Amino acid sequence: MSQCYLLLGTNIGDKKRNLLQARDAIVERIGKITNPSAIYQTSAWGKEDQDDFLNQVLEVETALNPEQLLAICLEIEKDLGRVRFEHWGERLIDIDILYYEDQVITSQRLTVPHPEIQNRKFTLIPLVELAPDFIHPKMNQTNKDLLGLCTDPLEVVKIE
Ligand code: ADP
Ligand code: MG
Repeated sequence: MSQCYLLLGTNIGDKKRNLLQARDAIVERIGKITNPSAIYQTSAWGKEDQDDFLNQVLEVETALNPEQLLAICLEIEKDLGRVRFEHWGERLIDIDILYYEDQVITSQRLTVPHPEIQNRKFTLIPLVELAPDFIHPKMNQTNKDLLGLCTDPLEVVKIE
């Protein structure tokens, strides 16, 4: 079994329901959710003319390897009716792999750790809630330290 951290993001429709459906699909097809973060609300990153996002990070225990994990994440996004309008555009649900154990992976399809972790408070704040002392295997700094250094100006509000 391997431990991974997944980031859920949604900014259209019934967002809490989208997160719930994504969690259900993850339990069914990826593995046990060993620790879910709170749900956080953030203004849209990169495009400020769209609806706010809800984000949640999940610690998950899985028997899938990283490539299989990515394939299932993309399949779940598709099955939940993701609509893609433009880059950073609106979508029903986005599922990103933040960390997979302490592995560093750079392939055409997959980059782990996720390359934007250190740039986004909506990722770092829920990650710090779950794993403040986990060391980013490429940056060699803890999630807590990365949050301290992050200059992302977007406000992230815990909603539940
Ligand atoms: P974004 O999440 O950046 O808004 P997408 O969800 O559309 O963009 O992802 C586009 C592609 O990113 C996926 O098809 C996948 O192959 C690739 N990708 C690379 N690394 C990762 C990762 N760590 N987690 C999820 N997708 C990744
Ligand atoms: Mg994605």
